[in-house]
Amino acid sequence: MVNVSQAEVDLYEVLGIANSANKDEIRKAYRKAALASHPDKVPEAEREEAEIKFKAVQEAYDILYDEDKRHLYDTHGMGAFNGSGEPGMGAGPDLDDILAQMFGGMGGMGGMPGMGGMPGGPRANKPRRSPNEEQKYEVKMEDLYKGKTVKFASTKNVICSLCQGKGGKEKAQAKQCATCGGQGVKQVLNQMGQFLTTSTVPCSTCNGEGEFFSPKDKCKKCKGKKTTEERKILEIYIPRGAREGDKIILEGEADQVPGQEPGDIVFHIVEEDHPVFRRAGSDLTATIDVTVAEALTGFSRVVVKHLDGRGIELQHPKKPGDVLSPGQVLKVPGEGMPMKRGDERGDLYLVVNIKFPDQNWKPSPEVLEKLKEMLPRPDAPIQADTVDEVDYDPKGDLDEFGARDAHGGSAWEDDDDEGEPAQCAAQ
Ligand SMILES: [Zn+2]
Ligand SMILES: [Zn+2]
Repeated sequence: MVNVSQAEVDLYEVLGIANSANKDEIRKAYRKAALASHPDKVPEAEREEAEIKFKAVQEAYDILYDEDKRHLYDTHGMGAFNGSGEPGMGAGPDLDDILAQMFGGMGGMGGMPGMGGMPGGPRANKPRRSPNEEQKYEVKMEDLYKGKTVKFASTKNVICSLCQGKGGKEKAQAKQCATCGGQGVKQVLNQMGQFLTTSTVPCSTCNGEGEFFSPKDKCKKCKGKKTTEERKILEIYIPRGAREGDKIILEGEADQVPGQEPGDIVFHIVEEDHPVFRRAGSDLTATIDVTVAEALTGFSRVVVKHLDGRGIELQHPKKPGDVLSPGQVLKVPGEGMPMKRGDERGDLYLVVNIKFPDQNWKPSPEVLEKLKEMLPRPDAPIQADTVDEVDYDPKGDLDEFGARDAHGGSAWEDDDDEGEPAQCAAQ
C-alpha cells in the first residue's frame, strides 16, 4: 500500500522532475501526470491503482508548487507534513480549486471509490436482511374512502434458481480475489484537507465478495451474478380510512440477496388532492353552492356527490323562515371518512357558498322594485357632516391592496405580477 503521507516517497519522482525544477516545470509535470493517471481515463480494473497515483500526484504538486511547503519538504521530508499543527500550511492552494480548473469541476469524480462515504464495509459486516424498498404510493380519496385492492407488476432480483445463489456451476470452486486477497475490501487513499489518509472500500474486482468464479465456471443462468430478474404480480390492499403517511408492507418482497433475508417493499401512502373534498383526519369538508333564492326560500336537493358516488341530499330550511348565510357551515354527522377500526365515521362539514346572480340575470325594473320591497331594508343611514359622491372601479382586486408601497421593503412582494418590475424601474 502506497501512502505518500507516511512512506518516504520522493515527491520529485512522483512528478518525474528534477530537484531543481522551477514552478513552471512543476505545473507542467503535474498536469501531464494528473491527466495520465486520472481515474476516469483508465480501464475499470486499473482504476483504484490510478486513483492512488492520482492522489499522490496531487499531493506532490500541492507541496512542491508552494514555495514554503517545498522548502519544508526539502529540509524535513514528508515528516514535516504529518500530524497536526503543521507550520505554514494555512495558505496553500486549494486542491479542489485546482482540480476544478483542470477537469471542469469535481462532478466527474463522483464515481470514484473512496471519495465519498461508500456504503458497505468488510464482508463480516454484511447485513442479515436485504434493504427495504421504500416508495410513495398516491391514492385517490375515493379509494381511501372505500378501500381498494391494487395489483401491479414488479421486477425484482431473486436468487438464481439454477445455482441457488452460488453464482458458479455445480462443482466449480470460486477463486479468491487477487486484488483484495479475498478480503472483499481494499484500502484506498483519501484526501483529508491537505493530506492523504487511507480508508476501506468494497473491492471492485470481486464486488466485495472476496472471491469470484472464472468465466467458464460461472452459472449459465445468472452469469455469476447469483440473482436473476423476475416479474411478479403483487397485490396490495389499501384499507378504507387509510391516510397520508400510512405504510403498507409487503413482507419479503424486496430484491433478494444471497445469504440475506429479503427485505420488505414498503408503500407510503400519499393522498391525492380531491377537487371537491378536503380531509382532516377522519373529517371531510366540501363547499356547496346555493343560489340566493335557495338561501332565502329553501330547497330540497342533492348538494354534493360523496366519495362513494352517493348523492347527499339536504332539506333547507330546517325551521320555516331560516336563511342560509355565506360561509355558514352545515355539519353532517357520520358522513366523514371511515375510521380504520370499527364502523364509525368522521363528520362532513359543508361550507355554504351563496351564488349571486351574474350578468345573465336581467330583471325588469318592476321585479327589482318588488324585490326591494320584499327584502329587509338597509340599516339607518351613516351620518356625516360632508358627503362626497365618488367614482369607483367595480372590478377592484385585493391583490393590489398595498402593492404601491411594496418598495418600502416591509410590504409583501408580488412575484407573479409581471407588470411590477417595469413599475419599479419607472419610479
Ligand atoms: Zn446462477
Ligand atoms: Zn476483491
